[in-house]
Amino acid sequence: MRSHLLNDRTAGTYRRTVTAGVEHIAARLAHADRPFTGIAPPALAPVVDAVDLDHPLGDADAALAELDRLYLRDAVYFHHPRYLAHLNCPVVIPAVLGEAVLSAVNSSLDTWDQSAGATLIERRLVDWTAARIGLGPAADGVFTSGGTQSNLHALLLAREEACDGVRKEHGADLRTAEILPRLRILASAHGHFSVRKSASLLGLGEEAVVEVPCDAERRMRPAALAAALADLQRDGLVPMAVVATAGTTDFGSVDPLAQIAELCAGYGVWLHVDAAYGCGLLVSGRRRHLLAGIERADSVTVDFHKSFFQPVSSSAVLVRDRAALRHATYHADYLNPERMAAEQIPNQVDKSLQTTRRFDALKLWLTLRVMGADGVGALFDEVCDLAGAGWRLLDEDPRFEVVVRPQLSTLVFRYVPRGARPDPALVDAANLHARERLAASGAAMVAGTKVDGRHYLKFTLLNPETTTEDLAAVLDLIAAHAADHTGESLVPDVPAPSTASPVQAAQAAPAVPAR
Ligand SMILES: *Cc1c(COP(=O)(O)O)cnc(C)c1O
Repeated sequence: MRSHLLNDRTAGTYRRTVTAGVEHIAARLAHADRPFTGIAPPALAPVVDAVDLDHPLGDADAALAELDRLYLRDAVYFHHPRYLAHLNCPVVIPAVLGEAVLSAVNSSLDTWDQSAGATLIERRLVDWTAARIGLGPAADGVFTSGGTQSNLHALLLAREEACDGVRKEHGADLRTAEILPRLRILASAHGHFSVRKSASLLGLGEEAVVEVPCDAERRMRPAALAAALADLQRDGLVPMAVVATAGTTDFGSVDPLAQIAELCAGYGVWLHVDAAYGCGLLVSGRRRHLLAGIERADSVTVDFHKSFFQPVSSSAVLVRDRAALRHATYHADYLNPERMAAEQIPNQVDKSLQTTRRFDALKLWLTLRVMGADGVGALFDEVCDLAGAGWRLLDEDPRFEVVVRPQLSTLVFRYVPRGARPDPALVDAANLHARERLAASGAAMVAGTKVDGRHYLKFTLLNPETTTEDLAAVLDLIAAHAADHTGESLVPDVPAPSTASPVQAAQAAPAVPAR
């Protein structure tokens, strides 16, 4: 069994095994003609259940062949140009190389004596990101597992700062439990649900999140925020943080950061900017201005695994004042005794919610060293351009209704049947049906969401390989599936034999040139 340990004597096995895996994936990627096979859980679950985990296969080739049936053959492939569903990006090769290196060396980023140079590399990237944001000389931060953790971390720091503030004003002996019920978090109606989850985990209860209304473009209204802050003050409650979203998950809308920062400064409230999605703007050549005001944040969430084309996980939380990170610092004699801080041995566990932690920063490091920040930004600009082109398609197409003109790279829209006043329940059902049928066919993957209680469809565009023709072809498929459901006859301008269903007609429509 020792032959399976990766060490000086097993380099040959390591090379052969990993190369076989790489060859296998390369072949899979080359042959994926659809983003998904459309397989359903009842078909796949028995195959996975049938594996006897107490009887190993003994060699990697056999395990890989088995894995192909269990997973790889029917996986959802984000690199395919017609994967248009969630905030998953195709990944860049330098980052995949980083992934291979970091798991083979297996550094842990909690302490210097488990990581050495890895700690320094992560710190350089934290400083680089903070400088891109413009947070100033006292900034710091740490890599995390994702936006959810980054938001939780930032709000923990905000909570502790708010508790300190209340104690300063009302008495140093006030206990945290007495203060928590008075704390409130303000976020827009389109903020991420992890804000409510954080409020709950932080002992505030999700009711502590005050929803600030948005404008028609789904951006937080500063006037509404001002009113909400004034209400809290009047009621003797404490605004613990304002969470502005730089790129809402559904609409990609960027809250007016500068105006929000101004209000936060006036009330002395912690400003957290959730840029999990919009962080790609930090390296954009043409859209960086959309983040104007982010430099005034107290904390920022960035998800490199969304708009920097990095494999999951790669995220960070940044803070304006590194002193705030002390709220997550605990000392253990075995790991990070206070003596180490005194000796100035660099140590990331003092800043993190995790202990053992992956060297995810390496992926971004190799990406920047190979492609450069401008290269990443150019890819993100391309998908934002594509969203603009997609919006024009939808806006001109009488079969569809599109909600907002995108600032980033999502499009929220729905199919509307012909006729003067279609039944709202029928419209909902037609859109749901279209999404389900499309996923079952595997021809394309799109997401769904609700707008004002009604079902809509969503394109999340993060693949620069996706073309306007792809979007047009997928819209034809959606319209055909939806029309199938409503029982509408064929859309007149799609030529097809009269016996064909709308779906058959759309599938028979001129195909997009093969790639
Ligand atoms: C995706 C997202 C998150 C959550 O990030 P994870 O990496 O999925 O945990 C938080 N906020 C926004 C705005 C997001 O889009």
